[in-house]
Amino acid sequence: MNRVIDNHGRPISYLRLAVTDRCNLRCFYCMPEEGIKYVPKPHLLTWEEMERTIRILVNMGVDKVRLTGGEPFVRRGIMDFLEELNKIDGLRQINITTNGVLTAPLIPEFQRLGIKSVNLSLDTLDRQRFFDITRRDEFQNVWQTFEALQEYNIPTKLNSVVMSGKNTDDIIPMADLTRTHNVSVRFIEEMPFNGDGAHEYQEFWNYRKILEELKKTYPGIYKLPDPPASTSYNYQIPGHKGTIGIIAAFSRTFCGTCNRLRITPQGQFKTCLYDDGVFNIKDLLRQGLDDASVTQRIFEALQHRAKDGFEAEARRTVGLVSESMSTIGG
Ligand code: SAM
Repeated sequence: MNRVIDNHGRPISYLRLAVTDRCNLRCFYCMPEEGIKYVPKPHLLTWEEMERTIRILVNMGVDKVRLTGGEPFVRRGIMDFLEELNKIDGLRQINITTNGVLTAPLIPEFQRLGIKSVNLSLDTLDRQRFFDITRRDEFQNVWQTFEALQEYNIPTKLNSVVMSGKNTDDIIPMADLTRTHNVSVRFIEEMPFNGDGAHEYQEFWNYRKILEELKKTYPGIYKLPDPPASTSYNYQIPGHKGTIGIIAAFSRTFCGTCNRLRITPQGQFKTCLYDDGVFNIKDLLRQGLDDASVTQRIFEALQHRAKDGFEAEARRTVGLVSESMSTIGG
């Protein structure tokens, strides 16, 4: 496989595609409670445009796609889209990130659709705290999704953003889930992508502080080897079935091996989470460019990639990083 290598020698193999900007939760660290301006449908990539883009990228060496959002399962047609993706030769992995609100009844279909793993976002195991964080009373539905994923043996990562004054009491109970469940619980540093719904930080929980907290209860916690291009530092607690990951999403310690691209629901092509998009792929497709010309544009963008998230942030032309993750694709 001829895989595209960027200007810093990093092979590019992974696309994170946000299929919608809409979401059925209102997590305070991701978006404001009200006044969200959703993108009008004609400005969104269609399912056909997304499929064509993925086929082009697969021919360039991308073999893994993660569907994210917004919440992927609020966009009508996603299950048919998954059927189509499953037919693409060379696409080795289809993964999904979901908040789990609508997902439980769909899990029995996941194996047939070729879904390799699911990242389920869950910041707390407490129903009231869940409501305080997400502004929706949906904990039970999310938990049912977790149980269904376990029942159908779908490899699962539970993603928890660690926020001072909100859910740091959940770190140990979440970690303890790995004792009885074959799951990877991942603690993520909070990033400034909150759609301008600004809030005060009491103190910042970086990856070191999260590890210290885990060590207080689990002094035997030990480091696992991190897979290539991993964004998480991986650990295990002796005797536990599952594993723990810590993601330095704000400290940005993993850029040196970054193999990812992102496409927003409007088609902004991003070579880093922290950039403001390098071109719009929807516009290219709608201008009638053929696959070879689109491939060339992608290739050129990958030869000007920022070295890391700090350089990407510094190069932004549209101001500070305050977009909502739901419009970027988390
Ligand atoms: N709706 C899906 C979900 O909840 O998993 C997919 C999209 S959501 C934007 C993807 C991930 O981004 C979630 O795990 C969410 O917690 C995370 N996220 C959103 N805003 C964030 C922020 N400001 N800092 C860190 N993670 C954030």
